[in-house]
Amino acid sequence: MTEIIVGIDLGTTNSEVAIVRDGRVEVLEVAPGVRILPSVVGVGDDGALLIGQAARNQYVLHPERSVRSIKRRMGEFTAVHMAGKDYSPQEISAMILRRLREIAEAHTGETVTKAVITVPAYFSDAQRQATREAGEIAGLEVMRIINEPTAAALAYESCHSGARKVLVYDLGGGTFDVSVVNLESAVVEVLASHGNNHLGGDDFDLQLVTFAVEHLQRENGIDVRDNAVAMARLQRAAEAAKIALSDQPYAILSEEYLLEKDGVPVHLSVEVSRDEYEEMIAPFVAETIEAVHVALSGAGLTVSEINEILLVGGATRTPLVQRRLEQDLGLQPRAEVDPDLCVAMGAAIQAAVIAGGQAPTVLVDVTPYTFGTSAIGPLNGEIYPYCFVPLIRKNTPIPVSRSEGFFTVYDGQTKVDVNVYQGEDPDALNNIEIGRFTIEGLRDAPAGNPLITTFALDVNGILQVTSREKESGLVHSITIDNAIGRFAGDKLTAARDRIDGMFGDREEAGAAEAVGGRRLRVEATALIEKAERLMTSTGAEDSEDLVNGIEAVKDCLAGSRSEAELKTAIDALADLLYYLDA
Ligand code: AMP
Repeated sequence: MTEIIVGIDLGTTNSEVAIVRDGRVEVLEVAPGVRILPSVVGVGDDGALLIGQAARNQYVLHPERSVRSIKRRMGEFTAVHMAGKDYSPQEISAMILRRLREIAEAHTGETVTKAVITVPAYFSDAQRQATREAGEIAGLEVMRIINEPTAAALAYESCHSGARKVLVYDLGGGTFDVSVVNLESAVVEVLASHGNNHLGGDDFDLQLVTFAVEHLQRENGIDVRDNAVAMARLQRAAEAAKIALSDQPYAILSEEYLLEKDGVPVHLSVEVSRDEYEEMIAPFVAETIEAVHVALSGAGLTVSEINEILLVGGATRTPLVQRRLEQDLGLQPRAEVDPDLCVAMGAAIQAAVIAGGQAPTVLVDVTPYTFGTSAIGPLNGEIYPYCFVPLIRKNTPIPVSRSEGFFTVYDGQTKVDVNVYQGEDPDALNNIEIGRFTIEGLRDAPAGNPLITTFALDVNGILQVTSREKESGLVHSITIDNAIGRFAGDKLTAARDRIDGMFGDREEAGAAEAVGGRRLRVEATALIEKAERLMTSTGAEDSEDLVNGIEAVKDCLAGSRSEAELKTAIDALADLLYYLDA
């Protein structure tokens, strides 16, 4: 049996430990159901050493007995004060590592003495050396120090898909960095890295805190800024609202009994929409996009030379972050490996390779399709009633639930049709409709009455779509069984070909021609589907004609025939269907 080498992500805010067991990568639980250990160390009332959540909990009350974000000080020759004693940054980090080591030992029942530890790509030699020393103090032989973006690339298995240039975008709680990584036959090289050590999800929280403070000032005439405990509670409420806004169009920032005014308790409860929130954080996100371009020019690359974007860090779950990256780089960022855990997973994969095992791959259950609905909006410069609005994007880990806000379009509108599609095309009608329903009995309200539509997809492929009138709570929903698996066999192939076709065409230079070609292909696929359905209900003679017609269209779709030939085959099949249908 090979010796265990653990993989450790020693983060500024949080740390994780992972191992490879039976060919599978596992991030170990630090407490039941929790795999993230806050990187906070403290000394409790009774003098006991606290590490992780307990230390984080006491931080607000006893900062003099607690230390956080020690990673920022690694490599410095300074003393860190904690409960009246001085420690080196290495010693504080060692306490976290020691705790992670104990966790690994408890899970495996074996002594753990070796580790692979990750560090940011920008870490200097002194900072790497300090990290190595911290490991040694914790009783761990540091087999290798690897760069965090390299670990992320390993977790995403990008290294197995040939030579690639990958952008690793890492937005955590308090730090941001972006790296351009070159992957070539198992050699991973960080070409350039850029970032901001003081930018992250915490800044997003602070925007919401300011929003709440201003609300309390306006509505209750109180200034909470001098009340440290109330501010700490606001911060927690803000983080919860922020996380909710990643999946929902509205969230309530709420905190009961926040404080008292003239002996009367003041409760906070204020709604914030995703649009408002996105406006607050847009400057921060813009700053990260600028950093992406600095990293790209540092690597001597242009946007079009990047093959993949990998997301790392909890704050990358923010929809605005993903949208801006996609708009700017023209690639849908990959987020299927848990952004909080992928660095630890990559470290464990590297550790397994050093231990002599085979490199395992990370298995994640993701949806292979995009699901969404349609709404009126701009398409190709015109207002169009069936613009596709994706809610669950392909490659999203399941189970997942996402909500979006929609609005009625005219005064007194009492019903709304909700169509459910699977596909990628901006024109919803080019996607596959998998369900529809109507929500009726809406309030008699002016246009702009908000509705919230939620798509919830479970691991069994059951998609539940719900629409709720925001003000009244009126709800209607449908359940689509087997949303993922419904395109079995031929149908699956046809659907995939159809979508592939659209993608192929999208890359063609002549946009107008591409649209024409795409429409033809969509028409062809729809006709084939219809013809195949009819085959089961017609006599043998007709069936033969049908088979020939279908084959002719399929030949044109598969081969490099001209558009005119495809059109002729489509017309012939359509004629036949018309006659059979009559
Ligand atoms: P990390 O340092 O990678 O652990 O990232 C922590 C940051 O991610 C914190 O600011 C969290 O509030 C933030 N975060 C975690 N989950 C989400 C989410 N679903 N949406 C937005 N931010 C999140």
